[in-house]
Amino acid sequence: MRPAILNSLFASVTSLGGIGPKLQLAYDRLLGQPPNGARVLDLLFHAPTAVIDRRSMPGIARSAEGQTVTLDVRIDRHKAPPRGTRQPYKIYAQDDSGEIALVFFHPRADYLQKTLPEGERRFVSGKVEWFNGAPQMAHPDLILTAEEFARATPLEPVYPLTEGLTGRMLAKSIAHALDVLPELPEWQDADWLKTRGWPSFATALMILHNPHEVGGAREAAALARLAYDELLANQLALALVRRDLRRVPKRPRLGDGSLDQKLRAALPFQLTNAQEAAIAEIRRDMEAPERMLRLLQGDVGAGKTVVALLTAATAIESGGQVALMAPTELLARQHLRSLEGPARTAGIEIAVLTGREKGREREATLEGLASGRIPLVVGTHALFQPSVEFADLRLAVIDEQHRFGVEQRLRLAAKGRDTDLLLMTATPIPRSLTMTYFGDADSSRLTEKPAGRLPIETRTVSAERIGEVVERIGAAIASGAKVYWVCPLVEESEEIDLAAATERSGDLTRALGDVVGLVHGRMKPEDKDAAMRDFQTGATRVLVATTVIEVGVDVADATIMVIEHAERFGLAQLHQLRGRVGRGDKPSTCLLLYRPPLGEVAKARLAVLRDTEDGFRIAEEDLKLRGGGELLGTRQSGMPGFRLARLDLHTELMEVARDDARLVLTRDPDLDSPRGAALKTLLYLFERDEGIRLIRAG
Ligand code: ADP
Ligand code: MG
Repeated sequence: MRPAILNSLFASVTSLGGIGPKLQLAYDRLLGQPPNGARVLDLLFHAPTAVIDRRSMPGIARSAEGQTVTLDVRIDRHKAPPRGTRQPYKIYAQDDSGEIALVFFHPRADYLQKTLPEGERRFVSGKVEWFNGAPQMAHPDLILTAEEFARATPLEPVYPLTEGLTGRMLAKSIAHALDVLPELPEWQDADWLKTRGWPSFATALMILHNPHEVGGAREAAALARLAYDELLANQLALALVRRDLRRVPKRPRLGDGSLDQKLRAALPFQLTNAQEAAIAEIRRDMEAPERMLRLLQGDVGAGKTVVALLTAATAIESGGQVALMAPTELLARQHLRSLEGPARTAGIEIAVLTGREKGREREATLEGLASGRIPLVVGTHALFQPSVEFADLRLAVIDEQHRFGVEQRLRLAAKGRDTDLLLMTATPIPRSLTMTYFGDADSSRLTEKPAGRLPIETRTVSAERIGEVVERIGAAIASGAKVYWVCPLVEESEEIDLAAATERSGDLTRALGDVVGLVHGRMKPEDKDAAMRDFQTGATRVLVATTVIEVGVDVADATIMVIEHAERFGLAQLHQLRGRVGRGDKPSTCLLLYRPPLGEVAKARLAVLRDTEDGFRIAEEDLKLRGGGELLGTRQSGMPGFRLARLDLHTELMEVARDDARLVLTRDPDLDSPRGAALKTLLYLFERDEGIRLIRAG
């Protein structure tokens, strides 16, 4: 149970003064994590992304690329985009030194006319970016009248906002939240705090929201303290889970190699050395008397599925069952398709279980799993529902593991007495980060692609040349090519995105004829499967998709990948998308369409992709470039799953946190000491408490 001392922090934001239903809605949108609405602690952890230093006023012409400045300007003219286009709204403004364009994507014109009227003087703060010698500021952080500017404090934190919420309102709510912050026991080691010069948790939050200096030492120390709290909570949770996995002695999986042999004979290819090495590592873990917790990392197309299949063979040979869980229906069915051939040849019965199996078929599968008759099952989240029972689940393989929470992985593993866990991921994770995500799970890497793969030619093309691209595609499909065409998801509105994808498939149908399919996240699973099948069989030649094809899909003879608005995707995501092609024996092409002008960072990112196909290298570059920020500024350089710790600042702290967590559990296994009790509070505070119930479970 969560300690009562945290209740005020877990209360809804409406428990603070001055937050009515309308504001609550805005906070829910900004900070809520369904099913929860925004809570007081979400406000406290909502870190500013910049600090405006009003003393930094170099003038338009002297503002450097990427510099955050305040400009004293006269608003010259508004330029609204033509109706029906997705171009930004621009407002031109001047000072003595030059002219700048203030740029707004998807704005409300009436709001802009009110806040930035033509002919008036305004102070605007934000980041300046230069394109072909012309400066721009996209979505200024702050817009003030001269009067407001005179009254403003010289330093002001800037927060991510949402419609209906101003920075001022947010600052006020955060001040209220700081007022109700209870005095919490110190969970960090006192000497360690002293060595680093870190403040207490409460002081750190206070400094976070009231910075005195941009990039000051005091501010950095406060953020580092909070990041370390979060990292330690994470490492401790992982260590608890892992300890629990290893507490119960395991029956070693001893296979006789009979199924392995039959499966290999049924495969149409030779395994790569990297695959063989991974299989050997996994089998060694399976034979050990401790439960396995291993991560299998391998780029898209590296051939992880067959590694899973052959290690499943060992578990089945030893008399147990295996479950392979995928995050989507589409992927589960694809696994079924690729596994059922070899499995049948080897005499292994294989079943599928997703939300779609109903009625008698479902009953039969459930019965087969409970009785042990079915040794291998492929499925989705449906696999860990309470109605599913296994006679003896010995191996759980979780594909695209990052799509599942720790809790979900554990729930699947809990279906067996001593289940081994194999987590697979197509996102190559930089070495420095593997630990954050997996604690000290062991990891195997598939660094080598199956033989015979041809390199993918990657090109960046301005979206202004889309006509030529369509022409080329017409010629390519006339000679038998298959093409993926990806339209991005923009965060503002799923409706608009869907409309864009639907419209694009219409355009392409008009240009290319009746050979264009469409697949997106809002479709019914049956329709999605049908669209995929049509593309697989060649009934359609172009598949327009939103990012639902991101993970795992395998159509070996697709050779062209077109990605619209490539500049809006993360590097890792682009790399994954590109990996959909280049799987067969014909040369492949990837066209990255971008909307000009491209900022420096965006340019650098696309160049990385053009230069290499090595997923591990791309992951490292991504890590470096992410600190640089992006034009739209939608993504900060945070780590997925973390609220305060940042990739660019806190990687070195991860290792320390891991060692700290280990030491704590060695000295105080049940977290009974005063520090242990405080650490439990920390786990609740960062919502990493799933491990706590494991403490006395064994
Ligand atoms: P991923 O690692 O992305 O899950 P898959 O397991 O889907 O990759 O494999 C991609 C494709 O490569 C599949 O069509 C698979 O049959 C094929 N494949 C796997 N291993 C090899 C190999 N050693 N040689 C040739 N093709 C292989
Ligand atoms: Mg896969």
